[in-house]
Amino acid sequence: MAQEIAIQDYKLVIDGQLVDSATGETFETVSPANNEIVGRVAKASPEDVNRAVAAARKAFDDGRWSRMPPIERAKRMRRVANILRERVDELARIETLNCGKIIVESRADVLNSAACFDYYANLAGQIWGETIPMNGPLFDYTVREPVGVCAQIIPWNFPMLMAAWKLGPALASGNTVILKPASHTPITAVLLGQICLEAGIPDGVMNVLPGPGSTIGPALCEHPDVDKVAFTGETKTGRSIIRSSAGTIKKVSLELGGKSPNIVFPDADINEAVNGSLFSVFTNAGQRCTARTRLFLHESIHDQFMSDFVARTAGIRIGDPLNWTTQMGPVISPNQCDRVLSYVQMAREGGADLAHGGRRVPDEAFATGNYVEPTVFDHVTNDMPIAQEEVFGPVLAVIPFKTDEDVVRMANDTIYGLAATIWTNDIKRAHRLAASIRAGNISINYPTVNPPEAPFGGFKQSGIGRELSRHAMDLYTQVKNVVVNLDEKPFDWYGNWPADPRP
Ligand code: NAP
Ligand code: MG
Repeated sequence: MAQEIAIQDYKLVIDGQLVDSATGETFETVSPANNEIVGRVAKASPEDVNRAVAAARKAFDDGRWSRMPPIERAKRMRRVANILRERVDELARIETLNCGKIIVESRADVLNSAACFDYYANLAGQIWGETIPMNGPLFDYTVREPVGVCAQIIPWNFPMLMAAWKLGPALASGNTVILKPASHTPITAVLLGQICLEAGIPDGVMNVLPGPGSTIGPALCEHPDVDKVAFTGETKTGRSIIRSSAGTIKKVSLELGGKSPNIVFPDADINEAVNGSLFSVFTNAGQRCTARTRLFLHESIHDQFMSDFVARTAGIRIGDPLNWTTQMGPVISPNQCDRVLSYVQMAREGGADLAHGGRRVPDEAFATGNYVEPTVFDHVTNDMPIAQEEVFGPVLAVIPFKTDEDVVRMANDTIYGLAATIWTNDIKRAHRLAASIRAGNISINYPTVNPPEAPFGGFKQSGIGRELSRHAMDLYTQVKNVVVNLDEKPFDWYGNWPADPRP
């Protein structure tokens, strides 16, 4: 699939400038649709981490952003949102070229990123404290202050949207930021850094460092001048972030992996459940942390559901992600393709029934890209690797169940707890299940969606903290308590010592 593109150079964004890395090194970034180069990017080194942290530290400490009136911070954040909307066509195209998601989804991601900036611009002026009644002539109040310099490390599956989810609350509450995009997908993060500058966000407030996570990740997490690390990515990387942040006791928030259940009861609208289940596992070629990758089907509807579901899966149009009619594009990399196929192999060997897909897309036209067929395994058991480990590709494990108790037990039998969907028209069952499943995001008769208004995050090993909504403001502010003495009598502990202090 030939794509006509001029290869461009992308720099680091440090202290308001577009700069080369200290070593002068660059790396090439490719399109998952054909593995051809789409950009050449400055490769940040630990020395660039020091430069960026120094800039962010200075920008935080001199108050150029944190002490700017909130209404003014909000105005500049809304400008970012407006620029994203004005440039949606160009940015969506670049996102698709760099991460391979279909253009329809990239366009939605850019617009949702703009909505996220708008949402948090509105919260900039609502960072309220409390007054707290106290015993005695004391007046007590709290204020919420920004945390300081925040390192934000993000994955490749939603390159721009993950940046927006992190930048929105951090910037609205007056922090300064060093954004570290995934090495597969650095381009839109760099462009977002430039857009922030164009929108009037002051120099040094938003810095962008593309580069290898294995070196600049620890350098950010260990740096004594970084106050907080916010990370989205694999649970395994999350563990290493906790370790490398431990020496300096950083505030750490983590959005990690998932293996989310999707449960269909016989009393559901089966057609709607088929549609919703397709959406929740196959969009973004299955590369979403909230993908409902374990489909629990009640045994009484299993055969009917599967025959519809497999027919609809076979109808998904695979193709060039830049084409507006394409419904599924490639996975991110040749490695990811191999990883997905190795899970397919394991599932076959483990005795699961392959109901659809399971191969690289055989068509010659797709040979240079990372295309995998949407894949459905039936009669999986919940202990198989395909039901326990995050595959991160278009692969579904179908697990039949008999009773509500059984399905709750299996749904919860995983190290993850990110999301779950319940399809039923029995209102009592729906809420009983919602209360029983240990996950941060439950949807009832609805697939996966995450608007900025609703909190998002994981139970168990799916994460620490909640992004989006007002809750994300708690990740980026800290509470300061102020107590004021209103007593007319001067305070004098030793001088006013009673002759007999015994109670
Ligand atoms: P990843 O391999 O964990 O990488 C994520 C980011 O961490 C990248 O920027 C990576 O840089 C960097 N990194 C790698 N090693 C590091 C280290 N030792 N210290 C600090 N940073 C390091 O995740 P991914 O493969 O990009 O993304 C897929 C994963 O993200 C899936 O597990 C998915 O479930 C999860 N995810 C979770 C959510 C959520 O909100 N819960 C949302 C989306 C995705 P390099 O790219 O340079 O290696
Ligand atoms: Mg990874």
